[in-house]
Amino acid sequence: TRTPLIAGNWKMNLDHLQSIAFVQKLAWSLRDAKHSSAEVEVAVFPPFTDLRSVQTLISADKLDLAHGGQDLSAHDSGAYTGEISGAFLAALECRYVIIGHSERRQYHHEDDALVAAKTVAALRHGVTPVVCVGETAEDLEAHGPSAVPVGQLAAVLAELAPDQEIVVAYEPVWAIGSGQAATPEQAQQVCVALRAEIETALGAEAAQRTRILYGGSVKAANIAGFMKQKDVDGALVGGASLDVDEFSAIARFP
Ligand code: 13P
Repeated sequence: TRTPLIAGNWKMNLDHLQSIAFVQKLAWSLRDAKHSSAEVEVAVFPPFTDLRSVQTLISADKLDLAHGGQDLSAHDSGAYTGEISGAFLAALECRYVIIGHSERRQYHHEDDALVAAKTVAALRHGVTPVVCVGETAEDLEAHGPSAVPVGQLAAVLAELAPDQEIVVAYEPVWAIGSGQAATPEQAQQVCVALRAEIETALGAEAAQRTRILYGGSVKAANIAGFMKQKDVDGALVGGASLDVDEFSAIARFP
């Protein structure tokens, strides 16, 4: 059985002072609701400059939350101005790191080879990669729903051993920030194809163990429909993760 993961990708929002207030309020909200991470794991993905503040708060107050970065370098150290290594994220107790988000693929020209190299780099430092895949509206038109995300995932799986843990996030680009979420059935269909690809590459055990999230216009009002799907194991939430009450309600979907 796969523990559901509700992940909040803040993107370029909330500075380190705002992050402290936000995480404190989120933790209180979940505690008031008697939420437990054993039932539904909740993770926040703040900007890099917030991570030290968030880590300190979570560890000092023993909050039942995980945190992670939104990206990392494929390199471990050296002359790479502006980059952040997996070692730095591990030192800040990041459990996860988002890799290959469509905004990075689109605006920073990250290709499948770089996404695969970053995934291997995260694993090298004991940080679990949340590997994002998803098709654009044009891809959907030209290739159908699964071909592009499955191809993107295959490029990463080719670099992995069966016992290495990743999380996969299926985020159709047309659903991100559009208010136009995929239907639960559409999400399920692609998640089944992604799980089949994991089985082909890494075997049945890895396929059954790996959590696959849906992302794209998830909110409190539609989370339950996604979570009812057999192969959807959580959500990667953008806009709705910036509102404490809304995000807390998403985490309390059951
Ligand atoms: P929205 O939830 O704002 O559509 O963003 C989804 C996303 O890109 C999360 O990584």
